[in-house]
Amino acid sequence: MPLLFLFPHLTNPQKTYTIYSMENFRKAYVRTYGCKQNFADSEKITGLLLTLGYIAVKTPEAADLIIFNTCAVRENAEQRVFGNVGALKKLKEDKPELTIILCGCMTQQEHAAELFKAKFPFLDAILGTNIIASLPEIIKSAESKTQKGAKVHIAEAGGSLDEDVKPLREGEFSANVPIMNGCDNFCTYCVVPLVRGREVSRTAENIVAEVKSLIAENRKDILLLGQNVNSYGKGTASGFTELLRELDNIDGEFIINYMTSHPKDCKKELIDFIAESRNISRHLHLPVQSGSNRILKLMNRGYTREQYIELAEYAKRKIPEISLTTDILVGFPGETYEDFKDTLDLIREVSFDSAYTFIYSKREGTAAADFDAPASAEEKSAWFQELLDVQGKISERSYERYTGKTLRVLCLGEGRSDPKLLTGKSKQGIIVDFSAGAGSAELRGKFVDIKVNKALPWALKGEII
Ligand code: SAH
Ligand code: SF4
Repeated sequence: MPLLFLFPHLTNPQKTYTIYSMENFRKAYVRTYGCKQNFADSEKITGLLLTLGYIAVKTPEAADLIIFNTCAVRENAEQRVFGNVGALKKLKEDKPELTIILCGCMTQQEHAAELFKAKFPFLDAILGTNIIASLPEIIKSAESKTQKGAKVHIAEAGGSLDEDVKPLREGEFSANVPIMNGCDNFCTYCVVPLVRGREVSRTAENIVAEVKSLIAENRKDILLLGQNVNSYGKGTASGFTELLRELDNIDGEFIINYMTSHPKDCKKELIDFIAESRNISRHLHLPVQSGSNRILKLMNRGYTREQYIELAEYAKRKIPEISLTTDILVGFPGETYEDFKDTLDLIREVSFDSAYTFIYSKREGTAAADFDAPASAEEKSAWFQELLDVQGKISERSYERYTGKTLRVLCLGEGRSDPKLLTGKSKQGIIVDFSAGAGSAELRGKFVDIKVNKALPWALKGEII
């Protein structure tokens, strides 16, 4: 039991595992902030740590080595990291041999790395985003405790795809698969291109081989990751649609999800292909950011509201069962209430199932950091609340269109609140709770047809047919 707790991924009954004594391992705690890409990076870090003789533990108190993989996208994420790093001081006082390392997007920024070094002298090393190759040496040197204060090693961002490191994945049926790294878009508010560097794509051959092996391990819910998946393979013959086509052709039933799509590069031919595909997700996350053409231009997004709406309508027409979601940014420098009203009109017109909503946060080094920002903090939070209210009402009823329909659902196991129900994920990415009757324990990890009889704001209920 303790081994299953420490290795939650070792649950495939068709495999044999070598069980070592716990004494053979040192213990590492990896905490991840931010986006799925950061989680995928942490799975690589944990995979690498396993080869160095560490096992993953679930609390910092149990660890000999702590790694915080940080996020820089918004100020509140950064503040959380500062608070959580400060809280490690006591642990280090009680256990001086403990090694603490920071890495990720926040510490890739020189100003942040220097601030951590000055504020928290108990840290052992501060790294950036491009760390896998140098991590073993850095851990060894940090553990020798020959230096006082944190050593800062920040390599140039990007460039590396770390093909040789096998990630230690968390989910049982799901798997993150990065297909590219970095971003070339330079949206004026966004720090990602500065901390992750220029866009590089993995080869289709490597991605297809990895997905095939994941499917052979009984993983059926695959998430392809990139900051702009639609520009996958830029400069090569194979684009994102060709990659999806190859993955869709792998034998078996599974779901290929992907994020994030960029409206300027998301082409109608991709939608056409998804409509006829067997295994490609019917969830399209298409961040719009704003409904105002003036603000979209200032953001350097590369599309207009009209183009966005046309694309969203096309996707709904071609794939009637699709679930559309988005990201919205409120309070961009220079945004007025008129601009904000354009965003409200757009979300009413497109009718997203849900939206991730953010208040703009100024990021050092981005173009928008120098833009004038006339809207006050009070105005921005009032608009933000209005946005939550409008989207909340849309989300509350949007799943009603699925009632009476039959959805293909990957069964994930027992229901969340009612043990008589099973729960699963539909090909739209929606949680579906359902009753299945006798023999239901055997359905875990299998696809089933569910007739939807009730729509809740964030989930569906139904019956197996
Ligand atoms: N590559 C993806 C998302 C990257 S960041 C894309 O292009 O959509 C995820 C979300 O964080 C963005 O969609 C945006 O809405 C939000 N975000 C990015 N920079 C931000 C900032 N400076 N302040 C607040 N939110 C921001
Ligand atoms: Fe940031 Fe824009 Fe790149 Fe997304 S596409 S990561 S928002 S710069």
